[in-house]
Amino acid sequence: MSHPHTLKPRQLAFDPLAEKRKGPLNLWYYRRIADKSNFVEGTYPSDITLVNWPQNDFYLGNLHEVSETEAIRNFTRAKQLSLSLLYWLQTEAPRPDGGIGWKGLRMRKDIVGTDDGLAKYPYIRESRRIRAEFTVLEQHISTEARMEQTGKSKDEVTAEYFPDSVGIGWYRIDLHPSSGGNNYIDLDAIPFQIPLGALIPQRVENLIASCKNLGVTHITNGCYRLHPVEWNIGEAAGTLAAVCLQKKEPPRHIRNTQKLLSHLQLVLKQSGVELEWPRVRPG
Ligand SMILES: Cc1cc2nc3c(=O)[nH]c(=O)nc-3n(C[C@H](O)[C@H](O)[C@H](O)COP(=O)(O)OP(=O)(O)OC[C@H]3O[C@@H](n4cnc5c(N)ncnc54)[C@H](O)[C@@H]3O)c2cc1C
Repeated sequence: MSHPHTLKPRQLAFDPLAEKRKGPLNLWYYRRIADKSNFVEGTYPSDITLVNWPQNDFYLGNLHEVSETEAIRNFTRAKQLSLSLLYWLQTEAPRPDGGIGWKGLRMRKDIVGTDDGLAKYPYIRESRRIRAEFTVLEQHISTEARMEQTGKSKDEVTAEYFPDSVGIGWYRIDLHPSSGGNNYIDLDAIPFQIPLGALIPQRVENLIASCKNLGVTHITNGCYRLHPVEWNIGEAAGTLAAVCLQKKEPPRHIRNTQKLLSHLQLVLKQSGVELEWPRVRPG
């Protein structure tokens, strides 16, 4: 396959029989969800892997903001792309022994509970987002942008400090090709915080954003959409809801009242949620 950024040829392996750590990245192990060797013999007849690779990222159309007919068409095309990849793996993918195709590969309808063996619902990497009280921008967290703004070196630069922080996260700004026509974007980001303002909508009262729906942009979604960050966002959203009920105050009022905000942050800290990275300080 080609490198997603440079389009230069790139070698990845696909070999369910290989030892895990030999040679180039072996995609069989990339998202393997069951390793039969971890279980009592006979529990699993074979390993199980989840295939969500660049090869079956579908970006030729949208499921939202199109007619129902168009959405169904795109949904079907996305499924066909995954099935085409499977067919190629079964029939034409080169094998280390010089042969082609992995004949034993099969869909696990029994595991996913669908008639075609595909997931129950497509994974949508970037979701709709609220218009939030505060939106995290590239210039708050991108290494390059922060270096430009602050004149600091790569080693010294820190992300924008958010006094209403309800958690932390870190990942690259990693955007896959979009149905809007953008190619991969991959930029360095600095360890960042999750501002409470990004969980609170501008217009609606008593609605709290979670997972990918918070106040980020298309660009900053690229690093707030990851497991650890979403988990922290969920913890913060749940804690905020509990504090709102306890104090009988809406989320916006908690954020705008220093005493209540400090209380929420204390509850989070007491529950083990980190609110800042050790080196992130104002100024
Ligand atoms: C195919 C795919 C690939 C991904 N790739 C990556 C990746 O490479 N790297 C990465 O970091 N992230 C990746 N993600 C995203 C990652 O999985 C999510 O960010 C993460 O799982 C979000 O965690 P969460 O706890 O917020 O939500 P979830 O993991 O969705 O947990 C929510 C839980 O709530 C339960 N639930 C829902 N409604 C109710 C209800 N009414 N009552 C009780 N329980 C309920 C659900 O059953 C579920 O167990 C991927 C996701 C998918 C689907």
